[in-house]
Amino acid sequence: MDDLIAGYRRFREVAWPERRQVFEQLAAKGQKPQTLVVACSDSRVDPQMIFNAGPGEMFIVRNVANLVPPYQPDANYHGTSAAIEFAVRVLKVKQVVVMGHAQCGGVHALLDGAPPGAEDFVAEWMEIAEPARRMAEQSGLPGELRQRFCEQCCVKLSLSNLSGFPWVRERVAAGDLKLHGAYFGVASGRLEIMNDDGNFAAV
Ligand SMILES: [Zn+2]
Repeated sequence: MDDLIAGYRRFREVAWPERRQVFEQLAAKGQKPQTLVVACSDSRVDPQMIFNAGPGEMFIVRNVANLVPPYQPDANYHGTSAAIEFAVRVLKVKQVVVMGHAQCGGVHALLDGAPPGAEDFVAEWMEIAEPARRMAEQSGLPGELRQRFCEQCCVKLSLSNLSGFPWVRERVAAGDLKLHGAYFGVASGRLEIMNDDGNFAAV
C-alpha cells in the first residue's frame, strides 16, 4: 500500500493543482465524455495514457481481453453491458473504441487454456470469444502470429456484438455514433486503427 500512498501524494502535489479547476467543473456540471473505450484490464494498456486524455474525457470499461458480450438482457450480472448502456444511452457518447493489444493474457488463455488458478471465471468469460478462437485455429498461423490474429479477431467480435445492442445499432444507423477498432503494441507503443476493410494499420 505504501507505493500507492506515495503515488497519491505525487498526484496531490503535481496533477491536482494543475487540474483542480477541471475536476471542480466536472463535479459541478457532471461528466460529458465523448468516447467510450472498451479495453483490456491488462496493466500495460491504459487508455487514458495511450490517448493522452484528461479527467472527464473518456468513459472506460476494462475487462479480460476487451470483450463485449452478446446482447443478453436477463437476470445475470452484466458489468460490461451495464457500462455500455450507461455510456451510450445516458451519457450519449459519440464514439466507441474497442482496443485490443499484443501479448493479451486472456487471448492466450483462450488459445492455450486458462492458467492454473484461473478456472472459475476466466475460461468461461473467454467463451464469448469462441468464434475468434476458431478463426485463429483455421488461419493455420504459427505461435505469435496466431495470437496476434486472434487478438484482432476479438476486437472485431466485440464490435460485432456491440452492433447487436439495439440502441447501439439505432444510434449508429442515425449517424449519431461511430464504432472503431484499435490495437496497441505493448513493446512498440504503437497504435493501429481498424480500417473499413477490417485490416489494422498504424496511425
Ligand atoms: Zn489483454
